[in-house]
Amino acid sequence: MPNITTPAAKGAFIDNEWRPAESGETVAVVAPAEGEVFAQIAESGASEVDRAIRSGRRALDDGAWGRMSALERGRVLMRISLRIADHAEELAAIEARDTGKPMKQARADMVATARYFEFYAGAADKLHGETIPYFRDYFVATEREPHGVVAHIIPWNYPAQMFGRNVAPSLAVGNAAIVKPAEDACLSVLRIAELAAEAGLPEGALAVLPGRGATVGAALTAHRGLDYIAFTGSPEVGEMVQIAAARHGIGCTLELGGKSPHILFGDADLSVAVPSIVNGIVQNAGQTCSAGSRVLVERAHYDRLVGAIAEAFSKLRAGTPEMDLDLGPVVNARQRARVERYCSQAAADGIAVLAEGGIEPGTPAGGFFVKPRLFGPVDPGNALAREEVFGPVLAVMPFDDEADALRLANDSDFGLLAGVWTADGGRGMRLARRIRAGQVYINGFAAGGGIELPFGGVRRSGHGREKGLAALHELSTLKTIIHRHG
Ligand code: NAD
Repeated sequence: MPNITTPAAKGAFIDNEWRPAESGETVAVVAPAEGEVFAQIAESGASEVDRAIRSGRRALDDGAWGRMSALERGRVLMRISLRIADHAEELAAIEARDTGKPMKQARADMVATARYFEFYAGAADKLHGETIPYFRDYFVATEREPHGVVAHIIPWNYPAQMFGRNVAPSLAVGNAAIVKPAEDACLSVLRIAELAAEAGLPEGALAVLPGRGATVGAALTAHRGLDYIAFTGSPEVGEMVQIAAARHGIGCTLELGGKSPHILFGDADLSVAVPSIVNGIVQNAGQTCSAGSRVLVERAHYDRLVGAIAEAFSKLRAGTPEMDLDLGPVVNARQRARVERYCSQAAADGIAVLAEGGIEPGTPAGGFFVKPRLFGPVDPGNALAREEVFGPVLAVMPFDDEADALRLANDSDFGLLAGVWTADGGRGMRLARRIRAGQVYINGFAAGGGIELPFGGVRRSGHGREKGLAALHELSTLKTIIHRHG
């Protein structure tokens, strides 16, 4: 793995250059696979927030960014995509060290990040308005406009992908994007910001403000210069962000957590279903908002279905990024303690461990590794069935029939993803249309996958849609121009 030299501690990235944070403070960055500090990032604060917002406003009102056509914006995005692809191996190594994820996952993340910029590069000049028939003497047209200066607050689980998912559509429609990456893992984001500037992104179109959520995150959402906030993270912080947006009278997108169910019927093709269900919870060590963390299993086939999942679970291995196994460590000691707390509580509640994977010998003692675990049967009222663990822990819950499966699937505060596994196409469609979630897969499941596919939640999973062309609508606003021409 290449040595990581990061310009991170230089400060905040504003107007295409590093500016030392006024606080003079830094935040230590720990490698999850080792449990040791390996880098420092700057602690940005209110003055960097103010500077970034003023720079974004300038870029929109008087700068090259505001004057660019949609076609030109698309071309800049395409050049960013190509630079990310050219630096994919370097970025993957940074991401793997920073998050602990296996190298193959980090490489796949960079392919997806470049793809976000490619997808929205092509879409930039295809966001059209409409004409509206009105009185005879009028010509009426709608036009989509950028919101203006948009804050993008993103989490640590997929730093580069979250950057691409937020920033590419935001820039495509012409916003000035201010990114607040997560303090636990953001080094790839800082590097991609430099690559974007090298690719010709004009000054002020993008700022990146590293630092803690409680300091720079809170200062950002408190600033009255913002026009919109896009937040991805926990429901608790999402609530604070929504309150801040309400105070400013601006809109927000919230992408929060989930407790996404699989519904597994006895007639499902297990050769496809089992690897997909298992991967859907161990990918990124279960730290994926759209992880399938409940599996509802048809009771009449319980032993066979659960047996197949348990067999696959028992073969799972956690290791370092270089070992490149099924999963890496979780992100920090706090997250590991959280996962272990849920597991101990489940055991205390009398829920059996149906299978568990292992931690590969030779992993550093200080790393934040947890064993993947399959628990069951889990009562619908138990914390394992209701709360987001954000770790490689899967809850098995039996159901009697289609109606029971639907009831259990919808018995959640969350509603992000769901998977239905059955050979009966009619049953798959009936359930897909009645499950309360932003995305429902039938005979497939891709946690976090699909750049082209609108994605987002309902209820405690948040609101608004990211990805696909839907993101362009979310990150822009509609103006109606009414011309009475006589
Ligand atoms: P978090 O909410 O603590 O942090 C998310 C981001 O918000 C970070 O950048 C953090 O620094 C910032 N933040 C924290 N406090 C803030 C404040 N007071 N004001 C403004 N910003 C603040 O979440 P986390 O622990 O980093 O991530 C885990 C959670 O995120 C899980 O619950 C997971 O489900 C959720 N998540 C959701 C999605 C999704 O797309 N729906 C994706 C990834 C993670």
